[in-house]
Amino acid sequence: MRGFNPNVTTFADLGLSPTVLKAIEDVGYTTPTPIQEQAIPYVLMMRDVLGCAQTGTGKTAGFTLPMIDILHHGRARARMPRSLILEPTRELASQVAANFMAYGRHHPHLNMALLIGGETMTEQLRHLDRGVDVLIATPGRLMDLYDRGKILLGDIKIFVIDEADRMLDMGFIPDVEKIAECLPANRQTLFFSATMPPEIKRLAKRFLNNPKEITVSPPASTSADVEQTLLVLPSGNPFHKREALRRYLRAEDVQNAFIFCNRKRDVALVYRSLQRHGFNVGALHGDMEQSERTATLERFRAGAIPFLVCSDVAARGLDIADVSHVFNFDVPFNTEDYVHRIGRTARAGKKGAALMLVTPDDERQVASIEGLIKKKLIRVTVSDLPPARDDESRGRNGRSSASSSRSRRSGPGRSESSERAGGRSAPPAGRSRPAHPLLPAHAARPAHGESTNSESSRTPRGPAAHHRSNDERSRPVSRPVATEGPTTFGHDLPAFLRRPPSR
Ligand code: AMP
Repeated sequence: MRGFNPNVTTFADLGLSPTVLKAIEDVGYTTPTPIQEQAIPYVLMMRDVLGCAQTGTGKTAGFTLPMIDILHHGRARARMPRSLILEPTRELASQVAANFMAYGRHHPHLNMALLIGGETMTEQLRHLDRGVDVLIATPGRLMDLYDRGKILLGDIKIFVIDEADRMLDMGFIPDVEKIAECLPANRQTLFFSATMPPEIKRLAKRFLNNPKEITVSPPASTSADVEQTLLVLPSGNPFHKREALRRYLRAEDVQNAFIFCNRKRDVALVYRSLQRHGFNVGALHGDMEQSERTATLERFRAGAIPFLVCSDVAARGLDIADVSHVFNFDVPFNTEDYVHRIGRTARAGKKGAALMLVTPDDERQVASIEGLIKKKLIRVTVSDLPPARDDESRGRNGRSSASSSRSRRSGPGRSESSERAGGRSAPPAGRSRPAHPLLPAHAARPAHGESTNSESSRTPRGPAAHHRSNDERSRPVSRPVATEGPTTFGHDLPAFLRRPPSR
């Protein structure tokens, strides 16, 4: 064990083993990030760590790299994992597993298992039976297996709680507390959260023993590489919002984009609307089947679908390189979510753009965002929108959408069906040009990913068709899960459930 050198600049200085250093070299990291620089020596010392760090700071490597060295010695027994990493969402769990695969490539004897809802339990149990050194899980599925007596937690030496504030938002804290009670008292605990509200601080105090506290870059900071713009609409009419979104998707050089909505039903609505207008689009929210969530993300990552309409399930941590744009179709309810959402672009040194549709009703929340990020955002007025009737501000089933509930406006204009048919037609005569050249009223050029034929007939099942348990909000119910073939996410997910490959 080596002491902490405050002037460290290389991974070798941090006390990692040559085999882990080799893996770091293989993935191409040259310098540790601040969280890695500060956390790794303390994790290697077996100290508890309380890290205030958001995704994108390199915190995953900050805990996984030293864990590999610690777990290198020793063997796991059947159904008794030696370390446990809790993640709030299946996507983040899969991503951490992918990191472990990369960093653990020279430690083929270390076994890893991924326990996430929505995947078949049989395969996951088989891996547990073989003995697991690193168990990466979402709280719901883990508790499910624990309650069934399929897993024993008495051998856990390292416990990682990642994205604790997100766990709190999602109602997972009771599960996390229950899990912590089942763990040995003499374990090492690493606790990470992007923000430290009082509830999280209280929790950290209960779970951690004399922790090393580390804070890197304020959680509210946004990357200078993201060009942030507000598209100011005259009202919260959802038709106008969708129209403005479409115009921008067509007019700008939008290579690919996350399009965030606040509510799942609006994800479905915007998804269907874009689909009807011929955009090649996918949807992602927590009520969808895991297999479909995984497949959709994989398609987005591979570039097969350039536009992804999503809820905040996609806001945190998803590390997809080369995302050119993030659209906030809705101003997020939680101010911090803005930072997480726009963090999906401008990754790995690339530039990106973030655009948020705002209405007069959103101004207070926008001011709060600007206060948080300590920056006044550029405002571009979107004018020249066609009039819409009051009933168009509602969903097709007549229910008001999120935005329409905040602001309703009546007036003559096009129906939803005419919106469908005429999305790319010329605007009514007499309209003024929009105030910003990025938003031409009749940009006829198809956007990247916009097909000339509507896809709706080819893709009859929208996200609204899914009514399964919401992994993000509630524990999945204990029931058999459909056993579909393995689905892939990221690099090669099925491999996560196997032993990491040897060189
Ligand atoms: P994370 O915050 O753990 O989600 O990491 C964000 C991104 O940073 C991921 O794409 C990592 O692969 C990458 N990353 C982590 N550590 C380093 C490093 N030291 N140098 C360069 N990239 C890194």
